[in-house]
Amino acid sequence: MAQVNGNYLKLKAGYLFPEIARRVKAFSEANPRAAIIRLGIGDVTEPLPEACRTAMKTAVDAMGTREGFHGYGPEQGYLWLREAIARHDFQSRGCRITAEEIFVSDGSKCDSSNILDILGEGNRIAVTDPVYPVYVDSNVMAGRTGEADAAGQYGGLTYLPINAGNGFTARIPSEPVDLIYLCFPNNPTGAVATKEQLKAWVDYARAHDALILFDAAYEAFIQDPSLPHSIYEIEGARECAIEFRSFSKNAGFTGTRCALTVVPRGLMGTAANGEKVELWGLWNRRQCTKFNGVSYIVQRGAEAVYSPEGQAQVKGLIAFYMDNAAIIRRELSAAGLQVYGGEQAPYVWIKTPTGLDSWGFFDRLLNEAHVVGTPGSGFGAAGEGYFRLSAFNSRDNVIEAMGRITRALHG
Ligand SMILES: *Cc1c(COP(=O)(O)O)cnc(C)c1O
Repeated sequence: MAQVNGNYLKLKAGYLFPEIARRVKAFSEANPRAAIIRLGIGDVTEPLPEACRTAMKTAVDAMGTREGFHGYGPEQGYLWLREAIARHDFQSRGCRITAEEIFVSDGSKCDSSNILDILGEGNRIAVTDPVYPVYVDSNVMAGRTGEADAAGQYGGLTYLPINAGNGFTARIPSEPVDLIYLCFPNNPTGAVATKEQLKAWVDYARAHDALILFDAAYEAFIQDPSLPHSIYEIEGARECAIEFRSFSKNAGFTGTRCALTVVPRGLMGTAANGEKVELWGLWNRRQCTKFNGVSYIVQRGAEAVYSPEGQAQVKGLIAFYMDNAAIIRRELSAAGLQVYGGEQAPYVWIKTPTGLDSWGFFDRLLNEAHVVGTPGSGFGAAGEGYFRLSAFNSRDNVIEAMGRITRALHG
């Protein structure tokens, strides 16, 4: 008898995006002529930078020659890419991160889930609420939680509410925790953490021997030069933090797939017998056993992000999306909505109008403006009463969507 992993049966049914798809499908079947604009799912829309395409074409041609052919590469990624990442993303900002500490992968979604492979079962885990659902669901699947309650919160997890009341930054919990998931700039709220706020977390982690899992997938969207892009800009973070980064949102690699995880040398966890164990060695072992690296072609594409042309093209993409975000913020504020985020991140987090919960506002925008967003409650109980719009779309669609929402709210 083949038994299933019963932890999967604890997952809440009716996951956010399928439910959105169901409602959109029902609406468009009833209204086949409505031109729906999707500002919901967090996928980029603009084409791949030319520098990346050129590098990948060259790599494809090389693969067609005996000398340029590449079979299995290093599980950790090619050194030329890891060195470019270390230099441009970390050392240039004063972070003492070396190529050896960088593990190239095919996505931050899988890395931020797979990291649980090397972490023990007894850890007390803290997540923000609302949260990127991957952190929670991967813990559920790995058996690190209890059952979900009526509000969708799982037993055994410590939820740190982030809301307008606390400026959308997670407060240090009163109860001790061992693992802390932080994502800044934040998906879904678009909030960002200052150096002082991150320092408070680093100080906490060092004092309590806790580990911070820091997701910096949106660091390229930071506009304010005083804000940290990496947790390693904070003194002491090498001793308590793993960082996840991705080429998905900065260079449009959501369909091309390349990301990286930083595990500093000397970052220690504790074994059951109390002995200290270096996490780098465990992650290296995990990757070598379960992962066979990212394609040579894609790694050449990622490397091109760091060329002068690549840097300029990525800057252009970010500026384009951030102009969209500014339009969304401006138009929705003018329409009388309270908006947050969207200044250092491609997400605008909206307080739903009085009398409407997250799904109520979703239905109103779908029915009256033919615009699809994401209900905040889908990201956690504390997201109720909020709504996420993404800046990932064409300029025309963003302007059209804002016009329609304004008319729907005032028509
Ligand atoms: C998009 C996103 C990522 C990137 O995931 P990939 O698997 O690298 O595409 C990571 N974290 C968050 C919070 C995201 O929204």
